[in-house]
Amino acid sequence: MSLEPDDSAHPHVQTERVFASLAAYQHALSSHVDWLQAWYSSVLNWDDQARPGPAADHCRFTDWFDGAGQSVMATYPSFAELGQLHRDIHFKAEQITGRAAGGHTVTTSDYEAMMALVLAFSTTAQGLERDAWRTLATVDALTGLGNRQTMMSHLIGERDRSIRLGQPCCIGLVDIDLFKRVNDTFGHSVGDRVLRAVAECLRHTVRPYDVLYRYGGEEFLVCLPAASQEAGLQVLERMRAAIAALDLATAGGQPVPVTATFGLAELSADLSVEESLDRADTALYDGKRAGRNRVTAWNGG
Ligand code: GH3
Ligand code: MG
Ligand code: MG
Repeated sequence: MSLEPDDSAHPHVQTERVFASLAAYQHALSSHVDWLQAWYSSVLNWDDQARPGPAADHCRFTDWFDGAGQSVMATYPSFAELGQLHRDIHFKAEQITGRAAGGHTVTTSDYEAMMALVLAFSTTAQGLERDAWRTLATVDALTGLGNRQTMMSHLIGERDRSIRLGQPCCIGLVDIDLFKRVNDTFGHSVGDRVLRAVAECLRHTVRPYDVLYRYGGEEFLVCLPAASQEAGLQVLERMRAAIAALDLATAGGQPVPVTATFGLAELSADLSVEESLDRADTALYDGKRAGRNRVTAWNGG
C-alpha cells in the first residue's frame, strides 16, 4: 500500500470532516435565524406595511438538511427531530402569515405555538452541536481512534462490567517498533501516514466488540472484552501478523517496513486499571528486549 499524501478515504471519524460538517451546520442555523428575524419583523409590522413575510426559501436550512444525510450530523439521534421541528416552524409561520394577510387577527395562541416550536428547535439544535463537539473531544485527530481520555473512562467501565458478569477482559498495548527511525528516514509526514495505516490495519483486525484507542505517540491500546488471556494472545498475534504484512511504501515507491510489539494483561478485581496498564507495559517492554515484533503476556514478573 502506497502512503500517498492524500490518504483521505478513511471510513472512521475524521475530525476535519466533523469540523467541516459543524461549520456547514452553523451556517445553516444562522440562515434560519436570519429568516426568523425577518419573519417576526414582517408580522409585527403587518398593519403598517402590509408586506408579505420572507419566503421560506430565504432560509437555507432545508438545503443543508437535505444534503447532510451522509454527514456525521445525521448520525446523531436529534438530527431527524431537528428537521421535523424546522418544517413545523415554517408550516406554522405560513399559517400565521396567511391568516394575517387574509385580514384575520393573529391570536396570542398562534404566537405561543410559534414560540414553543422556536424554543424546541433552539434546544434541539444546541444538543446536536454538543454531540458534534463531544465527538471531536473523544477522537484522536490523526487516526480517528478514541483518544486517551475516552479510553480511561471506558476501561474503568469495562473492568466493572467484567467483574459484574464474572467474565475475563484483557487489554493489549501496541507499540510500533523503531518508529523514530521511520521519521528520521522518511520524514514526519510519512511517519504520520504510517500511524494512520497501522490504525486502519488494527481496526480491520480486531473483533467487532473490541475497542481501539490511540494511547500515545506511536502506541495504541485495544480493549478485549470477554477475552481470556489465551484468547487475547490470539487476537494480538493476529494484529501483529497483519501489521508485519502491511507492505507500506512511500509515494516514491520506497518500502517502509513496519512491525509492532504487543503487551497483554488482564483487567481484574484485584487491580486498578492503571495497575493493569503497567502490567501490559511491562509485558511490552519484555517483548522489546526480546527482539520486538512479538506478543508477550504479563507473566507475574
Ligand atoms: P521502540 O521499538 O523501542 O519502540 O523504538 P521507537 O523508535 O519506536 O521508540 P521511541 O519512543 O524512541 O520513539 C517513538 C517515536 O515516535 C518518537 C516520536 O517522534 C514519534 N512520534 C510520536 N508521535 C508521533 C506522531 O504523531 N507522528 C509522528 N510522525 N511521529 C510520532
Ligand atoms: Mg513508544
Ligand atoms: Mg516504538
